[in-house]
Parts: sequence; C-alpha cells; structure tokens
Amino acid sequence: MNKFSIGVDLGGTNLRIAAVDDQGALVEKVTLGTKVSRGRDHVIADMCDAIQRLSDKFKDTAPMMGIGIGVPGIIDMQTGLVRESPNLPDWVDYPARAAIEQRLKTVVILENDANVAAMGEKWLGAARDYADMAMLTLGTGVGGGLVLGGAIWCGANGMAGEFGHTTVEPDGQLCGCGNHGCLEQYASATAIVRMAREAIARDSNSGLARAASSDAEFSAKSIYNLAIQGDEEARRIYRYVGRCLGIVLSTLVNSLNLPIYVIGGGVSSAWEAFSPSIFEELRQRCMVYAATAPSDAPAGNHGASAHVEAGPGHKTIITRALLGSDAGLYGAARLPMIASAKR
Ligand SMILES: [Zn+2]
Repeated sequence: MNKFSIGVDLGGTNLRIAAVDDQGALVEKVTLGTKVSRGRDHVIADMCDAIQRLSDKFKDTAPMMGIGIGVPGIIDMQTGLVRESPNLPDWVDYPARAAIEQRLKTVVILENDANVAAMGEKWLGAARDYADMAMLTLGTGVGGGLVLGGAIWCGANGMAGEFGHTTVEPDGQLCGCGNHGCLEQYASATAIVRMAREAIARDSNSGLARAASSDAEFSAKSIYNLAIQGDEEARRIYRYVGRCLGIVLSTLVNSLNLPIYVIGGGVSSAWEAFSPSIFEELRQRCMVYAATAPSDAPAGNHGASAHVEAGPGHKTIITRALLGSDAGLYGAARLPMIASAKR
C-alpha cells in the first residue's frame, strides 16, 4: 500500500470505519453499532477509538493522508457544526468537528453522508468515468449529493444536494423537514412501508395485508418481493416511487444537464420495480432528457451494457449505484486524498 486514509460512515444504526488506500482498495473495515441512546459523547468516543486503532495499525506501513467522516444531517461546513440530524437526535447545533479533532488531535473532514456516498460512486462506482454526477440515496430517508469537476458541490453553507426535500406533491404528506410532499415521503424505505399500510387500510384482504400480518419485519424489501411476484398493489406502490423519482430527476436533468445520475441506497435494490416509471416520467417531462436519452434508455441499467447510441453528443445516463452500502466509506476516505492533492 502506497498511502492510505480513514473513512467513516456514521449511521444512525451502524458506525463503520475503514482504512482505504489511494488506489481505492479497502485495507480493513470495522463495523460497530452506533450507540445513539448513550449520547453523542459516547458515539464520538467509540468512533475516535476505532479511528485511532486503525491509524496506529497501519501508520508504520504507509503514510496516512487524513480522516473523512460522513455524517447524516445538515452540516455547516465552515464551522463544522452539525445543525441537525434526524438519526442522531442530540446532535443539534453540535460542534462535532471540534469535538472529534480535540480527541484525535488532528484535523478531520466532516461531510454530509449522502454527499460522501456520491463521492464514493464517483471515485470507484457507477460514475467513475465522469467528473460531474448527481446521486440520490434511497434509504430510511432520501439523500442527495452533487459532484462537479470531481469535487463535492457543497453550496455556500455546505447544505447543497438536498434533493430528497424537493416537492413532488404540493399538498402531500408532511415531511420531517416541515414541508409537505417531499420526495422523501414517497421514495424512501419508510415511505414505501407507509404507502403499503395505507393500501392495507383501504383493503384488508389484499396480498399486502396478508404479507404484513404474517411478516413481523414487514419492510420495503417485503413489498418489493410481492411486487416481483406480481402483486398489483405492491407494483403500484413501486411505480409511484419511480414516478416521484422521475419528477425530481426531470428537474435535475433540465437544470444541470449532467452526464450521469446514480440511484443508490437500500431501496435501489428494487430497481426493476421502480426504474421503468422513472424513464417514463423523464421521457414525458424532461426536454433535456428527450434530447439526450441513450437509445436503450427505457430498458434500465446502462452500467455495463455496450449499446449503439443514436445521434451525436453526450448522453444522459440514469443508473443504479454499484458500491452498495460501502459507497459512503469509500467517499469519506476519498475526501482527505482530494484535500491533500490541493495542498
Ligand atoms: Zn422534507
């Protein structure tokens, strides 16, 4: 290994820390539970101990380039303050960066978790051949990230890329952010289960109702399994997920004209169930997409397929992520490498 850095993916459930070398090879990964209920000081202490252990283990083998940490929440990049985090309830206006740096006695780079996932997919995943990309992460919530010219586009305060909180239903479901009808309320795992429960309330004899009553962990994955078995109500829910994603992607494609948009997060494993509706919406709503769609667009995954493209110019690729839940780890580890290249 030539040089390495440490990437951290701080989730509401899992805290994962990895040493990654500058070629993108994962050297070692540690997974701990995030003990949210024991408070932020405890979480920070667990994280810093694990970072220290990993960096001590490899520091005599290769130079350490730094530490990057993906945090779920809104971060003020200038001050290193976590303004709020739905998964870490006591992290409100919390000077997380200062607390971490004080313990580790070194500088760290804090970033929003969806932004680091975008960076991971840009570095080693679905968008590795592109300098510019956007990513939507469909998990418990819906995160977004934008990479321009190889760097995360943070905006003026570090809060750019909140695509999950753009409106798809003006008078829709109340969102945790205070708005009604955010994408997150229709395309997250939480939303999929809610929409299924709403359908069950309308028809208690449906396949969904039977599945929910026999499955203690009735989840977005269970609803996907029903959808691929042909359950009409489950299919309708996933079509609606795709429709809402397509509406937001239409705005992104028209606004940004990027070469690639990547859909990741746990819900993206249901790609077959929702992606046809994304392409349907894009074709109907998005002028820039209509002019730039690859010739095989509606079929879905363009990641690996060689295809003959109609007409000259760049194509707009909409595709699923490749790195799964490791995208954030790789992206976080990448941040100190980019920072040290600038120095
Ligand atoms: Zn919202």
